[in-house]
Amino acid sequence: MSSLNPRQKEAVEYVGGPLLVLAGAGSGKTSVITRKIAYMIEKCGVEARHIAAVTFTNKASREMKERVGQLVKGRAARGLTVSTFHNLGLNIIRREHKVLGLKSAFSLFDDQDSKALLKDLLLHHNEDTDQVDSIAHQISNWKNDMLTPEQALVQAAGPDDIRAARAYESYNLHLKAYNAVDFDDLILTPVMLFHNHPEVLERWQGRIRYLLVDEYQDTNLSQYRLVRQLVGHRGGLTVVGDDDQSIYAWRGARPENLVQLNEDFPSLRVVKLEQNYRSTGRILKAANTLIANNPHVFDKTLWSDMGFGDPIRVIYNRNEETECERIATEILDRHLRKAVPFRDFAILYRGNFQARLLEVKLQAYQVPYKLSGGTSFFSRAEIKDLMAYLKVLINPDDDNAFLRIINTPRREIGPGTLQKLGSYASERQVSMFAACDEMGLEQLLPAQAVDRLRRFCSWMQRLYQQCQQSDPVAAIREMILDIDYEGWIYQNTASEAAAQKRVQNIWFLVDSIRSTMERLQEDDPDAGIEETIARLILLDLLERQEEEDDSDRVQLMTLHASKGLEFPHVFMMGMEEELLPHRNSIETDNIEEERRLAYVGITRARQTLTMTLAKQRKQYGELVDCMPSRFLDEIPQEDLEIEGQERCQEQNRARGKATLNSLKSLLDGL
Ligand code: ATP
Ligand code: MG
Repeated sequence: MSSLNPRQKEAVEYVGGPLLVLAGAGSGKTSVITRKIAYMIEKCGVEARHIAAVTFTNKASREMKERVGQLVKGRAARGLTVSTFHNLGLNIIRREHKVLGLKSAFSLFDDQDSKALLKDLLLHHNEDTDQVDSIAHQISNWKNDMLTPEQALVQAAGPDDIRAARAYESYNLHLKAYNAVDFDDLILTPVMLFHNHPEVLERWQGRIRYLLVDEYQDTNLSQYRLVRQLVGHRGGLTVVGDDDQSIYAWRGARPENLVQLNEDFPSLRVVKLEQNYRSTGRILKAANTLIANNPHVFDKTLWSDMGFGDPIRVIYNRNEETECERIATEILDRHLRKAVPFRDFAILYRGNFQARLLEVKLQAYQVPYKLSGGTSFFSRAEIKDLMAYLKVLINPDDDNAFLRIINTPRREIGPGTLQKLGSYASERQVSMFAACDEMGLEQLLPAQAVDRLRRFCSWMQRLYQQCQQSDPVAAIREMILDIDYEGWIYQNTASEAAAQKRVQNIWFLVDSIRSTMERLQEDDPDAGIEETIARLILLDLLERQEEEDDSDRVQLMTLHASKGLEFPHVFMMGMEEELLPHRNSIETDNIEEERRLAYVGITRARQTLTMTLAKQRKQYGELVDCMPSRFLDEIPQEDLEIEGQERCQEQNRARGKATLNSLKSLLDGL
């Protein structure tokens, strides 16, 4: 185990009161958290179950778990919470569902579910559905800012806001009717619960006596409130953060929460760390010079004794295709000639769309890779179908899920029947599933239709009982066989190979249900199928798939997703104006956040950093010229090794000449 420097030691051993560790990238902030957990358990005799460490992404929380696992072994770590904010919220809701008036098996709506519901609501009111994305974003912001629909309506500034606030109101009512919560509710609901029920809060404060928060600069208002509530007056709080790495303002993050701590906790101790243990001097210098262009609330200095290191390479390419090809061949070359394992490379980009071409090229050169984020496992149709079955199984009132599966595979239940069922159910204010059982339905629908609906419902109820009485995973397997879902996939997929892949996905999901349930039961022997499914929806399964597979592969992810991680060799692609900084940020004059994003990217690298860009790129089917990112100019030029710039300029000049010539001849012809 590496030894802590004196400042880190101070932060680890200060258990008495609130503490803020404020420091730049790679200075060991996350290490302070993991070491402190070990210190509290081993040296201070704090029981692991009284400690909770929270962070933002699944990947980061997994990393943290691993690091703690190496320090604290076996029983001593039992009951320790290391999770994302959302997971912590889910736990609270799950345990307090009675007080909240939710049935035990509530549904969790993901982004797509939320948008599908919103779209339905807009359609229902004969409104334009083009705005679904922006309204969803708006609602999410309101929730993160803790505004109720009524407050949002009062504050609405124009017709768009009013429309969004109305949609928010009806969206929330429907969530309630579906016995469902969405992602933002995972934080908001516990905050409201604690506010309204001090006795419940007290119980949780008794349980979580020490809270540690990583990446604090990215907390939004509701997360901040949750932290404050849980900590109460006891002050058992350690937060670490770096204002220069705040990259989630667009999701309501408030870096000023760092400053706010000083006011909330007058006894706050602040520790600054200055030594970077991650990157070479050159990489650090580039990062420091770049971020010096942003205004600063806190002054930080960062140094490293990892050697000065190689220059930062900047590679110009003719177009996006040659850019991706170049990255693929570079990696292959270094792998073959210098025996660098593939897993030591990361390729970072601004938007997921940039990964598509990259994947093609990596495949062409047979470079193994893993993609984080992007098309998540859960957005695949077969997984959405199966998850919808599971949602209805545990919460029959989830109308969204019910509608998705009632005719998949086909059960000859037509849209007319469903429409009538839908209006009947909303008149009676019950869910569609519940409406199937009501006598009134028989006056509305032909006997055959009623019979089909009821057969479906009683089959589901039988399955649910089976889940309760015997092995739930076996019951789920039986369910898949019962509906011949494999057959349905083969019938409805273009190629045999694609169908096979989809069928594999299904069984992968079933295996994951089993392993997730077993893991949950280690902590809580009563955890059943309801908890398991809620947990599964929350976790990005694809990421967990990668976790279990430690094969040697290059890592692909967005700059946002790379926060907190580190890699020996980093590629940052698309270093162009309108990509990084992103066009929207240029238009809204929000360059500072983009600069922080570039800072996050650069500081992921330990030994080498390579930046690539294209001179031309296809945009909406048209070839456009690209300008090098302004951030390239903000890095000391003496630390750069630039390649291909002239060639591109020559080509450009040649192209310019050609255009000029053809223009001339065109004019001559007139
Ligand atoms: P980021 O801002 O990117 O989240 P961080 O401040 O959380 O970075 P860590 O990830 O904790 O930094 O640490 C960066 C690297 O430095 C890790 O590889 C860690 O193991 C190493 N490290 C931290 N402290 C020390 C130390 N005292 N001695 C040696 N290595 C250290
Ligand atoms: Mg960190």
